[in-house]
Amino acid sequence: MKQLNQNFNNLPKDRIAEFCICCGSKKLKNSPAVLMPFVAERVFNWRQIKIDKTWGLKTIKNGQTYSICNTLLCNECNFLFLDIRFSDRELSNLYTNYRGVKYTKLREKHEKDYKKRNKDLIKGITYLDDVEKFISKNIKLPASILDWGGDTGKNTPFKNHSKKIHIYDLGNSNTVRGTKKISKIDLKNRKYELVICSNVLEHVSYPSETLFDIKKHMSLKSLLYIELPYEKLIMEIEDKKKTYKDKRHWHEHVNFFSKKSILKLLKKCKLKIIDFRKLDVPEGNFSLMQIICRKDLDQ
Ligand SMILES: [Zn+2]
Repeated sequence: MKQLNQNFNNLPKDRIAEFCICCGSKKLKNSPAVLMPFVAERVFNWRQIKIDKTWGLKTIKNGQTYSICNTLLCNECNFLFLDIRFSDRELSNLYTNYRGVKYTKLREKHEKDYKKRNKDLIKGITYLDDVEKFISKNIKLPASILDWGGDTGKNTPFKNHSKKIHIYDLGNSNTVRGTKKISKIDLKNRKYELVICSNVLEHVSYPSETLFDIKKHMSLKSLLYIELPYEKLIMEIEDKKKTYKDKRHWHEHVNFFSKKSILKLLKKCKLKIIDFRKLDVPEGNFSLMQIICRKDLDQ
């Protein structure tokens, strides 16, 4: 039986997406791409192999194999995404012990110099002050905080100014001082004044499901802070300098949000936008979208 996305007009949760997972439109363009070898191996155990003449194949050329996929672009909202939608189990293959020893070893095998990058990533983000400033315009501290997908808590805002900080994460790493890991069972019907969802939605197969799960832990007064990468390619597509055909490879970010697509998604999930801004982070030469929203009173 087909699994349905109950929060999203009951559209099917297909292995290969046939509609936009932000706005539901079926008007999609597609273009061939490759799934990066690290992701293919960690998620599916699809390993690369070299084809040579010993294979004895007449119609296939010799060379390195790659896993293929499609890049999809939604005509309605400019959402750019990988057509393969990973199952929960496959996502847990990818994110359990995220950036741990096994992860790093495999990634280093496929991507030279990853070890150095991983060290920088483990140090934490450099723009936490900006995040805290942006959120604190809208909320009175101290507040109870849930960081959804917050990993070790090293990037969790307001670690030192809040009464309770819980971290919910697929991974099983220990959390930093001032924060406490919470399991799905312990979360139950707990509500928080502030929920953080930073750099999560670009990784998941059905962001609407994540948002509906998060909403269970919000009251009408709670705020939700969402942070997403504003990918360079999306800006270039919006400026008509590039097209979806330029997205030739897919890695851990399986969703590239345009401003229009995230706004459509939030509306579908009955979340009302309080604040939105684009933040340029000079140290890493990248940009982010920062959004504050709350449950829509009209639902
Ligand atoms: Zn769309």
